[in-house]
Amino acid sequence: MSYLAITELQKYYDSYHALRGINLSIKEGEFVVFVGPSGCGKSTLLRTIAGLESSSSGSINLDGRDITELASSKRDLAMVFQSYALYPHMTVAENLSFALRLAKVPDEEVKEKVRSVSASLQLDPLLERKPKELSGGQRQRVAIGRAIVRQPKVFLFDEPLSNLDAALRVQMRLELARLHKKLGTTMIYVTHDQVEAMTLADRVVILNAGSIEQVGTPLELYRQP
Ligand code: ADP
Ligand code: ADP
Repeated sequence: MSYLAITELQKYYDSYHALRGINLSIKEGEFVVFVGPSGCGKSTLLRTIAGLESSSSGSINLDGRDITELASSKRDLAMVFQSYALYPHMTVAENLSFALRLAKVPDEEVKEKVRSVSASLQLDPLLERKPKELSGGQRQRVAIGRAIVRQPKVFLFDEPLSNLDAALRVQMRLELARLHKKLGTTMIYVTHDQVEAMTLADRVVILNAGSIEQVGTPLELYRQP
């Protein structure tokens, strides 16, 4: 049984046909990576799953529920962007706890969740800092932490490492793999980096011109002939 089921999904931007009938089943806990040339629709597909773009037709079903028409905030998903999107005037601790406080989660529980996420992402020494006092890698860890505290059913990542330098990208890639193993949460990840796709993915989805061209494990897709 699939956890996230995308059926005949179509997306038009005016007359431009950006998604041309996407069918995809994702299992609970799976790490799925979307790859493909620039402009092929990776970001559009991810944003449509997130509810940041509306679909033109087709359906998206998550954990037995049709979420196609739901507002983004009601979908039980958390998205991490390439440009961290932290609140600049808030400290790291405030950034981490903001969504929980907004949802009126009791104080004690907020503290416990922030403590746990902060420990697992090594953010403890940074909790009182503002985003501008952090490095790029540290900011991206806070952005990931902010997604984790909400305990979503699915994490959506839109090229989260492409603004980092090469050394940090390697480190963060390992951290993401470790997080996925620890949390066991379904993750969908967009990248144009083949190494990221190979090392992180349980399954890789290759998109081309708004259609799925191929789906397979990294071994199946990147095996030398
Ligand atoms: P990718 O993430 O694979 O680079 P995108 O999903 O961003 O591709 O874009 C797919 C296609 O849809 C591109 O041709 C892009 O120009 C077009 N597109 C994306 N967003 C919009 C938009 N808001 N309005 C019109 N066209 C768009
Ligand atoms: P990325 O490839 O990293 O997604 P893009 O430069 O393709 O970045 O898109 C950045 C933003 O611009 C996105 O929000 C996308 O929806 C929008 N966009 C992309 N192409 C177009 C377009 N042709 N017309 C209008 N908006 C676009």
